[in-house]
Amino acid sequence: MLVVMRHGAPEESVRRVVDVIRELGYQARPMPGRQRTAIGLIGNDGKVDSGRLEALPDVMQVIHVSQPYKQVSREWRAEPTIIELENGAIIGGNDVVLMAGPCSVESESQILGMAHRLRDAGVTILRGGAFKPRTSPYAFQGLGVQGLQLLARARAETGMAIVTEALETETVDVVAEYADIIQIGARNMQNFPLLRRAGRTGKPILLKRGLAATINELLLSAEYILAEGNERVILCERGVRGFDEHTRNLLDLTAIPVVHSLSHLPIIADPSHGTGVRAKVTPMARAAVAAGADGLIIEVHPDPDRALSDGAQSLWPEQFDALVQQVGMIAEAIGRRLALQPDRRMAMQAER
Ligand code: PEP
Ligand code: MN
Repeated sequence: MLVVMRHGAPEESVRRVVDVIRELGYQARPMPGRQRTAIGLIGNDGKVDSGRLEALPDVMQVIHVSQPYKQVSREWRAEPTIIELENGAIIGGNDVVLMAGPCSVESESQILGMAHRLRDAGVTILRGGAFKPRTSPYAFQGLGVQGLQLLARARAETGMAIVTEALETETVDVVAEYADIIQIGARNMQNFPLLRRAGRTGKPILLKRGLAATINELLLSAEYILAEGNERVILCERGVRGFDEHTRNLLDLTAIPVVHSLSHLPIIADPSHGTGVRAKVTPMARAAVAAGADGLIIEVHPDPDRALSDGAQSLWPEQFDALVQQVGMIAEAIGRRLALQPDRRMAMQAER
């Protein structure tokens, strides 16, 4: 339930509402907004008798959130959530953010070389897995903490933010030490203890849709993180299990407008895992931006044929440059633009 205050309601009236919610035995979460302050009521299983709250001074309206997810819903917050990282990168605003890098961190030269290359292409957020969820236990499992340290070096050298996956509750804290955004992978979307643990770090979380998860299930998983007091969640459509063999997954681009109508959280698209096929990544990246994605996460490798994971879907750096050009034009066609490094933006404008 949500108690919406009148525009300009004094602090004292807000405090009164918070006190009454607590007296009723629930938690209160005040949310100052640009237009008005709202106070969320958390911890109710069913309907709360709202009469007492409605009668308080400066209360304009009490909204019963009809969705099973509460804090994630648009009813809870009408304005989009905007997440700003320490390096200034913004996710969820008008600009379409680019996250790019190899599937896995493999070596110092691979990740540092890739980081510089992508930074020069304008990318503000570097991806790279140090703890890898692999289908086979015999496949490369990632460099672990050493991989995190290499990512930290890449950040120090390039100023890019880092997004990397936390695979287990035991290693969430060490990942949080190095990451700017903690990725929760598709296979872990419903690992509820992991969601809670990652939520408690207070770091932004990139939550990927499970291979067979409905959109409501994705939003309920995000709710686990918000319920820990962490509102900085970025959703990611990365394809669901389909029945056709030409692609690894079925990239469900309808999820983008659907999520935007149901939730205030940003949603990005992952056409790399969504297709599993290098030649299909750029077309689907274009489509995702056209569909309204707030960003893209793209696998790029200096030598995809020798990649230790996901080589078949990893772009060559030159292919990535072309992708940036193309999605940039599409973003502009729908009144947005790419969030690029400022020097790269200027260079691209000069090239035109
Ligand atoms: C990845 O990003 O490399 C990854 C393993 O993604 P997903 O969890 O979507 O399969
Ligand atoms: Mn991958």
